[in-house]
Amino acid sequence: MTSVLFKNGIVISQNSRREVFRGNVLVNNGIIEYTGKEAREAEEIVDCTHKIVMPGLINTHTHVAMAHLKGQLDDMPLSSFLEKTFVLDGQRTEKGLYRSAVLGSVEMLNSGVTSFLDLYYGEDLVTKACMDVGIRGFLSWNTLDQDKTTQSGDTISNAENFIKKHAGSDLVRPSIGVQGVYVAEDDIFMRAKEVSARYGTLVHIHLAETREEVYNFARGHGGERPIEHLHRIGFLGSSVVAAHCVWANSSEISYLAKNDVSVSWNPVSNSKLGVGGIAPVIEMKQKGVRVSIGSDSSGSNNSLDVMQSMKMGALMVKNQRWDPSVIRASEILDMATVVASSSLRADDIGSIEPGKRGDIITLDTQNPRLFPTNEENAISNVVYSADSSCVSDVMVNGDFRKRSGILLAMPYRDWKREELV
Ligand SMILES: [Zn+2]
Repeated sequence: MTSVLFKNGIVISQNSRREVFRGNVLVNNGIIEYTGKEAREAEEIVDCTHKIVMPGLINTHTHVAMAHLKGQLDDMPLSSFLEKTFVLDGQRTEKGLYRSAVLGSVEMLNSGVTSFLDLYYGEDLVTKACMDVGIRGFLSWNTLDQDKTTQSGDTISNAENFIKKHAGSDLVRPSIGVQGVYVAEDDIFMRAKEVSARYGTLVHIHLAETREEVYNFARGHGGERPIEHLHRIGFLGSSVVAAHCVWANSSEISYLAKNDVSVSWNPVSNSKLGVGGIAPVIEMKQKGVRVSIGSDSSGSNNSLDVMQSMKMGALMVKNQRWDPSVIRASEILDMATVVASSSLRADDIGSIEPGKRGDIITLDTQNPRLFPTNEENAISNVVYSADSSCVSDVMVNGDFRKRSGILLAMPYRDWKREELV
């Protein structure tokens, strides 16, 4: 399909003026060519009279190849979760890792996610899954201390080789990651930063997720906390996307802001793991830190559903502050679209504007959850009322992955559970 017209929909553009209007969106050869009220012709017309047309959602923290682990790591704190995960990681096969990544990618497409930022080893297999399924993957090869990894070889070299091999690919943008201060010494962080600078990639890390992480680290480092430490050694910078930052105090938030770090907030995962706090998203936003939304893994979430995370995150913050006005629906939607794209240094996605990639979803406004929706309440209804059952069409790079509520491919259906290990 070379040209598709989304006709007469409620368009949530997420452009710089955040315009919401009834009109048309034309995608030609994978790129958005026109948005507005004028008539346009195309090879395929999608009647959007009863649809919201909006940018695909962006999930900024996943471990997609853990999609088969749902229901296996429940009701335990992060320390036990990680111990169990490291054992499970050691048992994984290439086939299982690939298949689990396919499953997670399809789950995301089904719920309107068209791009995700991943952190894992074996990202070459996740790359193949992204290509086969047709989802945009920002894939960070995870690194950590040699004596704490199940990877063979030097983890930094593994990450560098992955970046070299996949640089310039259409759907996949490779990068490097670091698991966290609890399994990586300073030299891993600094070598990862050096690789990211050399290849111009992101560095994707876990940071200040639990109080235990922060206090254990501080105990072993003369009272210095993880964010302070990474600031002092010169690791923090604009290429860093830090997942969680739940336990960041106000001077640490200043370090995140000063160093132009992006934060991925994972409200559902944080709550399920009972981390005991809510990330200081209001203070981070006030100081100018980019805060986007991630799901985290199917082990700690247990879904990859950004819509659920948007609603839950909004409600958690409002309730914590005794103030429903402290964060608005439009700010939450920004986190899952334009703020996410700028966190990923991907200015070609995140909004519906001419020149951007054809990463577009539609939501069915005749679904009872969304009825009645108009231009005025569309953003509120997406954030507070919709769920993934409302996602009607999903397009990535100009190609449909879901049409009229039906996934076009569900390759996992005949796989046995043990084949995803
Ligand atoms: Zn994570």
